[in-house]
Amino acid sequence: MCMNDVMTLETAHCAPIHSPLPVILTKGEGIYVYDDQGKRYIDMCSGVSVLNFGHCHPRIIEALVKQATTLTATSRHFYHDKLAVFLQKACELTGYDKAVCMNSGAEAVETAIKIARKWGYVHKKIAENTAEIIVCDGNFHGRTITAISMSSEPKYKDKFGPLTPGFKLIPYDDIAALEKAINKNTVAFLVEPIQGESGVKIPQADYLKQCAQICAKNNVLLIADEIHAGLGRTGKILASEYSGIKPDLVLLGKSLGGGILPVSLVLGKAAIMDTFQLGDHGSTFGGNPVASAVGLAALQILVDENLVERAKDNGIYFAEQLKKIQTPLIKEIRAQGLFIGIEIDTQLMASREICLQLLEKGLLTINTRNTTIRLLPPLIITKQQIDEAIEIIQSTLLGHF
Ligand SMILES: *Cc1c(COP(=O)(O)O)cnc(C)c1O
Repeated sequence: MCMNDVMTLETAHCAPIHSPLPVILTKGEGIYVYDDQGKRYIDMCSGVSVLNFGHCHPRIIEALVKQATTLTATSRHFYHDKLAVFLQKACELTGYDKAVCMNSGAEAVETAIKIARKWGYVHKKIAENTAEIIVCDGNFHGRTITAISMSSEPKYKDKFGPLTPGFKLIPYDDIAALEKAINKNTVAFLVEPIQGESGVKIPQADYLKQCAQICAKNNVLLIADEIHAGLGRTGKILASEYSGIKPDLVLLGKSLGGGILPVSLVLGKAAIMDTFQLGDHGSTFGGNPVASAVGLAALQILVDENLVERAKDNGIYFAEQLKKIQTPLIKEIRAQGLFIGIEIDTQLMASREICLQLLEKGLLTINTRNTTIRLLPPLIITKQQIDEAIEIIQSTLLGHF
């Protein structure tokens, strides 16, 4: 099928919630993808940070195929031989005791909210149905009703009410606002170490550390949504490690599924995770044998290929090279590891237009909030491949001035 056929067919049968860039991807390998004409692109969006190991990593595929041809689903009414090992590895890598395995990121968010609320009622003795959770302007925690109820983005919530009550919005990167927002009913503060969807917003260096102190002082759970930032993207297993803190709960997703399956986790200290009792929660597919085998392989590759360190070093290199590009189109470059945002002066040009031109030259990027181009290469990228990408970015941006 040619581009026009695909577009026409999708427009006819797909609810109009997306407007993809005009390319039909048909194959992926490592950091590259290919379109239906055989043209090669560097994948600088990694399916929004799900392909940290690149496309079709042989060990992920091997784990998938092996498990898919052995045992795929059991329900959680029985033990199977893959979940425990997967969770043990996830706990060992992140330094937590226990985990709940779900599928999408939004489900992990919802799971954490359930844990936090029940924890508030059981341990803080908050009056039934009054628990409050503090969240930040510009957050992105998914698209379910509860996740959009936390959002500050009108576009995400307009006409979808009634929304879930119990959330209080405060400005991001504002310690005083957090301190002020906490009251006797506050059970948790849910925060992203870096806000990806709202344009790679990196808070001041001691923000999370101060948040952790305020939460501890007030007996409020700190929940880090590391679905985007976690698992090496920023150059640490968890981005919150940069602040020297250990949140009470951590959420992982996206690349945990090796770019193949939705696999998410809520990780926490035993005392908090044990708030959940028999029958409190569940998921038909959460923690299934294939998801567990693929998740385990993903975590093993992260360690075996030293991807966390590499993301750190290559992220520094990438940002340095980007900062050498002198053009009025760039307002700011924000980066931590391979979590990179280029804020565009949209007076001069729309960021979607730049993404289109980068696509034309063989680079896949994401246009975020129409102001920022997000660069999220697979963590397996090499310096040489970064140079290749820089060439394209430079010639595209400099082509205009
Ligand atoms: C992507 C994302 C989610 C939602 O994950 P889904 O798998 O799309 O439900 C939640 N939080 C953050 C920070 C994300 O980046």
